[in-house]
Amino acid sequence: MSDCLFCKIIAGQIPGRFVFEDHELVAIRDINPQAPLHVLIIPRRHIATLNDLTPHDDALVGSMQRAAAAIAKEHGYADSGYRTVFNVNREAGQTVFHIHLHLLAGRGLGWPPG
Ligand code: AMP
Ligand code: ZN
Repeated sequence: MSDCLFCKIIAGQIPGRFVFEDHELVAIRDINPQAPLHVLIIPRRHIATLNDLTPHDDALVGSMQRAAAAIAKEHGYADSGYRTVFNVNREAGQTVFHIHLHLLAGRGLGWPPG
């Protein structure tokens, strides 16, 4: 955990472009955006992957999805559409092992995803 990129951004040790913060979550712009709006919604508490969630985290994950919806709305994408994604482990392409919800919007998003 001490070596975790997102824990360091949350602690202010590494810069991040914050778009939202509350007592349990932060949201930052992705450094390598895959869409005109690409934001990561991240819990302040370190949880490595979705596999590590417990029932105690149910409300937290709900808050993450609601924060994504609010940010999408704030940027004008509520009606046109957006996507939220959790990548889990290798085959899904997870590279940072502190859970984060990707919010993507602003272009047509293909289905199925790659
Ligand atoms: P994932 O591949 O699902 O683990 O997503 C990790 C995301 O973090 C990628 O989309 C990266 O572009 C993004 N990322 C990596 N380093 C930073 C950083 N310093 N600030 C913001 N986003 C980052
Ligand atoms: Zn962390």
